[in-house]
Amino acid sequence: MTTETASRVPTEPHHEFGVLESALTELEGRPPSEFRTLWEPAGELRARAAELGAEEIVQRAMLLQAGVLLRKGRTGEGGRLAHQVRVWAEEHESRYLLARAHRELSVFCRHLGDFSDALTHAVQSITFLTDDVPPNLRARHLTTLAVALDDTGAYDDGRRRYQEALVLTAEAGDHEMTASVLNNMAYSAVEIGDEPEARMLVGQMRDLQARVGYRFSANELDTMAQVELMGSRYDAVEELLSPVLADLVEANEGDAVAECQLTLAQSRRAAGRYDAAQEALDATRKLCTERNLGRLSAQVRQEQAALYAATGRFAEAYEEHRAFHAEATALHSVQRETRASALQAVLEANEARQASEHFREMAHRDALTGLYNRRYVNERVPALLLESAARRRPVSLAIVDLDHFKRINDTLSHATGDTVLQHVAELLEEAAPGSAIAARMGGEEFLLVYPGVDAEEATARCERLRLRIRAHGWEPITGALQVTTSIGVVTAPEGQSTFTALWSAADRNLYAAKRSGRDRVVTG
Ligand code: GH3
Ligand code: MG
Ligand code: MG
Repeated sequence: MTTETASRVPTEPHHEFGVLESALTELEGRPPSEFRTLWEPAGELRARAAELGAEEIVQRAMLLQAGVLLRKGRTGEGGRLAHQVRVWAEEHESRYLLARAHRELSVFCRHLGDFSDALTHAVQSITFLTDDVPPNLRARHLTTLAVALDDTGAYDDGRRRYQEALVLTAEAGDHEMTASVLNNMAYSAVEIGDEPEARMLVGQMRDLQARVGYRFSANELDTMAQVELMGSRYDAVEELLSPVLADLVEANEGDAVAECQLTLAQSRRAAGRYDAAQEALDATRKLCTERNLGRLSAQVRQEQAALYAATGRFAEAYEEHRAFHAEATALHSVQRETRASALQAVLEANEARQASEHFREMAHRDALTGLYNRRYVNERVPALLLESAARRRPVSLAIVDLDHFKRINDTLSHATGDTVLQHVAELLEEAAPGSAIAARMGGEEFLLVYPGVDAEEATARCERLRLRIRAHGWEPITGALQVTTSIGVVTAPEGQSTFTALWSAADRNLYAAKRSGRDRVVTG
């Protein structure tokens, strides 16, 4: 072990990998509102990692840049870059990068108006997420999925993911992300015309803002404006959106300003201000073209048709409506909807599998020590014996029992007894590397199973374990009281035995060890 101090920057490449990685992790964790601060540092990391040949770091930095491009409205470039990273991550089986790349691709496809691909990517972005990612990152992925579900009309499924995301953002104390989830939920309520729900959610956004002094983003102001539009309060719409038009507000998403312009166009038409409406609509159309915003350009056509109709230009309204209809149909083809619902099924199967794996793992562990429990042993060991018998390989088994454990409980406390059990469990875990199994069978009685280990080697390992437990630093925990163990070992030389028979034989040896003075290993 070297003892580098913080002021001495390590120079060996593998040390520098670590430095670059933690810098990247920090950049990846920055809130969306700070996306403008990412481009340069990501570029520097990318260049340095390329020099060192740290390819995964290069890809992670590229993905950060893809995210920036998408948020700036440089949709095509962002999508291409994210796609490139996804291909690399697939080839190199990098789950983390896959999860992140699919999330960016989902955003990309949504901008284009390809809802079914957006959902495919969102599903993947959850599937590849590992359990150890921070809660606010998981919340971002869940929100992207919820948005994609909303876009395909699966509002209830979307809602469930929003709610999960809210729990996580609250847990992480991430106000910006909480506001963003509430905003998406409100937007979804607007889409299905549920004004009370939308109003309630916007109220929650305002409460949060008042509490933490957070600044609304362009998307959030747009949602609020849409809620006002639902209530025909056109002045309020103008007032909410004017800071966005004056470029005073963060637009964290590539389509945010276009959304705001479209809301203005709708509101102005409804207020009878047709010229001003046309102006906002032209601005929206321009942004849609520049930024490849296919999703919104269908809505622009629909709004243009409505505006023509409102001003008596019915022939043009009809043409525009037909064009809208063609685009909307392309976006929502029956085939796409079918694919989307098939994907939804895949997603649910995935989530169910992950949940059941999690519960199965929990059901197999002892709560106090984290070792395997009796249930696991009863399921696993008979199968393991059959495998060993088929290959004529030895299996050794040892019962480890603490000596005079009652005294520790009685003289000190039950809590101290528990701590002792936890320490012993750690030592057992160390003594069971590779395919060996360490389990707590109950109370202060443990089991070790050594596949492929003969009697001599098993005895030697148990002897080392006995000495290791005895020599452990118990003093701070138990004071003058010693902690020792007795161990009964048994071996099936060619694996040909049953668990019950091996258990009884090991238990007899354990009893012999206790009777002859404890703190010893008995084999045979
Ligand atoms: P021996 O050397 O003969 O094994 O003596 P012993 O005192 O270890 O054996 P005995 O089986 O008489 O006592 C086991 C004690 O373990 C009794 C029980 O209170 C205690 N025990 C069982 N489970 C737990 C537990 O989860 N936590 C604690 N702290 N004590 C436990
Ligand atoms: Mg005991
Ligand atoms: Mg006992």
